[in-house]
Order: sequence, then structure tokens, then C-alpha cells
Amino acid sequence: MDTVKLANALIPDGDLLPLEEYEKLYPPRNLPEGAQVTRLAPSPTGFIHLGNLYSALADERAAHVSGGVFYLRIEDTDEKRKVEGAVESVIRSLDYFGIRFDEGAEISSPLNVYGPYYQRRRAPIYRAFAKDLIARGYAYPCFCTEEQLDEIRKRQTEEKQTTGYYGKYAVCRNLTEEQIYRNLAEGKPFVIRLKSPGSGAEKFIFRDEIKGEVSVTENDQDVVILKSDGIPTYHFAHVIDDHFMRTTLVIRGEEWLSSLPVHLQLFRILGFKPPKYAHTCSLMKTENGGKRKLSKRKDPELSLDYYRKAGYFPLAVVKYLMTLLNSDFEEWENKNPQEDYTRFKFRINKMGKSGALFDLEKLNDISRTEISRLSAEECCDFLGKWVEEFGTQADRAHFSDREYITQILNLVMGTSGKKRRKDIVRAEQGVRLIDYFFDDTFKPEYCFRFGKEEVLAVLSAVSADYDPADDNTVWFCKLKNAAAAAGFASDTAAYKADPSAYKGSVTDAAEILRIAVTGMPNSPDLCTIMHILGKQRSLARIKAAMLAAEEAN
Ligand code: GLU
Repeated sequence: MDTVKLANALIPDGDLLPLEEYEKLYPPRNLPEGAQVTRLAPSPTGFIHLGNLYSALADERAAHVSGGVFYLRIEDTDEKRKVEGAVESVIRSLDYFGIRFDEGAEISSPLNVYGPYYQRRRAPIYRAFAKDLIARGYAYPCFCTEEQLDEIRKRQTEEKQTTGYYGKYAVCRNLTEEQIYRNLAEGKPFVIRLKSPGSGAEKFIFRDEIKGEVSVTENDQDVVILKSDGIPTYHFAHVIDDHFMRTTLVIRGEEWLSSLPVHLQLFRILGFKPPKYAHTCSLMKTENGGKRKLSKRKDPELSLDYYRKAGYFPLAVVKYLMTLLNSDFEEWENKNPQEDYTRFKFRINKMGKSGALFDLEKLNDISRTEISRLSAEECCDFLGKWVEEFGTQADRAHFSDREYITQILNLVMGTSGKKRRKDIVRAEQGVRLIDYFFDDTFKPEYCFRFGKEEVLAVLSAVSADYDPADDNTVWFCKLKNAAAAAGFASDTAAYKADPSAYKGSVTDAAEILRIAVTGMPNSPDLCTIMHILGKQRSLARIKAAMLAAEEAN
């Protein structure tokens, strides 16, 4: 068979360059020894999940700890799965978690010389190499219809053979020149298949960066490399792209491990050096005492949008994933709480070999700690961003007064060290926590433990004497006086010594005032709250509480 003639008949030269031109067009990268080039290669389906972030973080860290490059390639060979805006959504979602690409689709960078980064736009490159394989007798056209392929599969199942297109089942392998040209003349659609030189019997050891030594069987399947529309399959596109984009380390899900023999064979036949591979394990969760993969259908926490909407602190999600990626990260983080996580020496070969167990409680814990470390300004930025996207109209109006919010957060989040508030996991909680500082969202529940007379006595005494210029000590002195005037003990010890002599203690009087001003029996420092609210608003709240107390009896 004249395979060169066949190659010309199947794939006309048209826009194809001679093969050596592609090597010149995409030369090896000029990077220091050991620098890794990694990529995220999603299909533009619009669904980006925690597994993608996990993988992207491993890619990004592997590239950047080694002084390499992390790029974005869009695997859009399947038109049907394409969703408008999906690429922007990948970039935006990862950016939210602080993960940025150096190069790639929709990234503006001087490094963008290995593109196009959309596979559909690279069609001539794949065709040029497929043509070369045909010419060298390593690929051939296959005219089998879906029905014929079904038939083959049925036969194989009956004969208890491995399914697929290989060996004696690969009928189009043995078509005569005459049959091929007749099919072409009849306009029959065809795909291009690899003519696998493997027997399917030979086994060899492969070193995966994560899994270590794995035993693989040489490929004997004549996989499709170009579909009937001239667009490549994943297998072919992966090999061509990762070669010409000069990827050194392919990090991808372990579901691809089974097609690794195909890829290694393609690299060999094409004369390319294969990259290193790291097959990551799936994210699992425990359920009913067992383990299962996180599922798109059952687990809302798989979607990255879930974390943004719920207002998780993005760095907390990243640090949590770091604990899953490298188990010694947590120890390092405990020893270096002030250090940026990127200072940690991430290593791909420290990644777990089997299912990483996703634990939402642990993530919550990390989020609580991270949020408690924020300054009032940082906290204001974080909550403000969430409010902009997911808050109510009232929230947005509140956050337009940054100074007021910062004052509140300074108080509510505590000053430093042990006094820091450590129970906020998500932005939404933080935003609801300060609702009572705004009149439109102040919804008090007047749960006084005292009758109308006592409540009115305490509140009227406080309001008669309130001066916002008073410092904490003076404020408290005045509260004691007000308590005494209302028949409460101004001193807790005196109350304890003879409770029957009083209506309550100064603590009880303070609670009455607190409920009036904040609507709750517990709150941060009341003097500061009244100070932040201002005299007018504080006195108006006291008055409203007095009215409510009167009406209640
Ligand atoms: N498009 C493939 C996927 O989304 C990429 C796999 C790879 O990283 O090579 O699974």
C-alpha cells in the first residue's frame, strides 16, 4: 500500500506546515533546570468543582515552587459540551481562590507564545501529525459505522474477549487500497485510527509521580485519533499539545491512568519525549460508615460556587486543600502561622496515593481560624465583597459606610489574641451578626426578665444621665448609680450577701439596658456599642424599649 499517497488523499496539505516547522514554532522553553510546566486542561462545560480546584492548586504549586509556568488550555474538542462563558468562569472561580495562570486561554501575557490554547483552533497541527502517522503506516482510515462497532462489541462480549477495536477485530486495518479508495469515492465518512504496534501482552513498569511504580500493559487498541470532522480525540490532542506546549508534568485525575498506555505509545511513535505524569486520587466523603466519591448530583459542596455563595474565606478553602495535598502542610502551618502558605515546600510526590477524604468540619475549623486572624479592615473587605455579590439591598447600603462598619468589626471581632472572636465560618454569618447596628435590620426581642416597673426605672435613669463623651469607667459608674436608683444593688458582692434587699444586681440592670439597645441579652461591650450607635440612636432604642415594656403589661 502506498501510504504516502493515502495520507495525501485523506488529509490534503492545505494549511499544514512541514512537521519541523512546528518544532521551531514551539521551541523548548527557556526555564531553569527543574522548573515544571503544568497546565489545567478543562472542557468548557461551565461546571467547575472542588476536584478542579484541588488539581489546579497542585498544578499551580508544582509550577511555582519550581520557578516554572502554569497555563490554561481549553479542551473544547467536544462541541456538544461547550457552554458560553465557561472559560471566564474557570478563570474567575480560580482567581477567587488566589490561583492565577501565567499563560493560556483568555490570559493576557507575553508568555502566550505556545497557543492557540483552544484545541479547536489547533486543528492543522493535529492533522499534520495524523497525516505523518498515516504516511508512516501508523494510522489508517476506518469507515465502520456505529452499528458495525456495536456488532463487534457484541461478538467480543459473546467470545469473552476484551472489547474495543484491535487485532483481528480491527477490520478496517486490513482494507485493500482499492476498498479504501472506493469508500472515499462513495463519500463514506471515516475516522483516523492509530495502527497500534502493541500486542496487548507485554507488561512494563511505569513511575507515576504520585502512585509510584505502576504496572501497565502495552496498548493494542487502535484508538481513534481524529474524528470524522477532523477534530482530535483527547488521546491525540493530549500528546500533541503537551509536547508542543512543552508541559513537563501532567497532573490529572486517576480515571486517565487506564489510557496511559495509549498515550505512552503515541509519544513513542511520534518521537516525542513524554512528560512526567501525576495521577491524582478522587475526593471522597464518608457516608453510612463507608466512603464514596463526591458526586455532582448529591453533594452541593462539590461545586466551587457553593463556597463563594456561602461566603467561605477563600484562603481557608485553599489551606484546607493544601492539607489534603500534602499531609505535612498542617504541621508546617501550625509552626508558621504568620507565613504565606506559598512558602510551604509543596511536593507532588508527597500527595496521597488513594482517595482524599473531604471533611467539611475541618474546613469550617480552618475558616474560623483564618477569619479570626483578619484585621477589621481586612474583615470589612471580605464581608463587603460577599455583600456586593450575594447580600441583600440593605446589606449593600450598610456596607457603603465603611468607617461605621470598621468600627463595628473592631468591636465585634475582638481586639487581639484570646479575645478574638473565633466562631465565624462564613461571610454570611458575619454580616448577620452586625445587623443590629442598623435601624432597618434591628429586630429586637425584648426578653426582659424583670417587670415593667423595674425595666422603666433602669432605662429612664440611664437615659437621663447618658453622655457619649463618658469613657468606660464613667459609663459604668453611671450605670451603677442608675441601678441603685432603680432599687438594684450597685455592687454584685452586696447583692450576693443579701439578695432579698434588692430587685436584682447591677448585672441584671446592665442586661435590661443591653436588651433595650441590642435586642439581645448577650453582646460585646455595651458602652462601646452605644458609642458606635451614637447618642441619638442609643436613646431612641431605649425609648422604644420603654414603650414596648409599657405595652407589654
Ligand atoms: N479535559 C480533560 C479533563 O477535563 C483533561 C485531562 C488532563 O488534564 O489531561 O478531564
